[in-house]
Amino acid sequence: MEKVPIVTIDGPSGAGKSTISQRLAARVGYAYLDTGAMYRAVGLKIELSGIDCDDGTVLSRLLDDIDLQLSPVGGKTRVILDGQDVSEAIRTPEISMAASRVSALPLVRAKLTSLQRAIGGRGGVVAEGRDMGTVVFPEAAWKFFLDATTEERARRRVLQLKEQGQQVDAQETLTQIIERDRADSSRALAPLKAATDAVIIDSSRMTIEEVVAFMAARVAGS
Ligand code: C5P
Repeated sequence: MEKVPIVTIDGPSGAGKSTISQRLAARVGYAYLDTGAMYRAVGLKIELSGIDCDDGTVLSRLLDDIDLQLSPVGGKTRVILDGQDVSEAIRTPEISMAASRVSALPLVRAKLTSLQRAIGGRGGVVAEGRDMGTVVFPEAAWKFFLDATTEERARRRVLQLKEQGQQVDAQETLTQIIERDRADSSRALAPLKAATDAVIIDSSRMTIEEVVAFMAARVAGS
């Protein structure tokens, strides 16, 4: 398979993927693709619509009608769903769980996988998610799987939510992280797992800068 200049960063929630992907993208001059934001936006849309996801016809229609735009602003991504900026609305714990639920639906995965390939398939992108190196961009030239201990990931997630001005319960955050990872890793379709050719990084004891520098060196080195 011919390699394409794509960097994939997969891993469980709270491993530092977003911050690291954004910084790496800026450093190597690539675009940043936040695929979790896409699942969150679809999760929000399904929640708001109240549709029955078991009804394939209704779900297909909802997905056909969806207008999802990711627009880069200052290194971050604004998420525009059906003309409305939902960048903040998709970051709540409820939408995290909704995203995880809808991400197991084959129709949702097919739709978002093809959108992601349309955006990043030609290269020049740092793509972050759960199945970037395994399913969406198997031809990526550089694949990383970013992990950290569950406790460290919960600690980081609490800090992140607090920074966004949200009220957080540390114990509940830990419980949700464990539940979301279990669901993401055990689903039948595109489960969270490292690609066989991914470099696995445990960031528990590394700073963000150390991880970014390590990845940037790999990208520059080949
Ligand atoms: O990365 P983030 O926490 O924003 O992702 C939200 C949820 O979207 C994940 O828990 C996962 O269920 C789903 N997701 C996915 N595949 C991706 C990215 C995210 O299934 N590539």
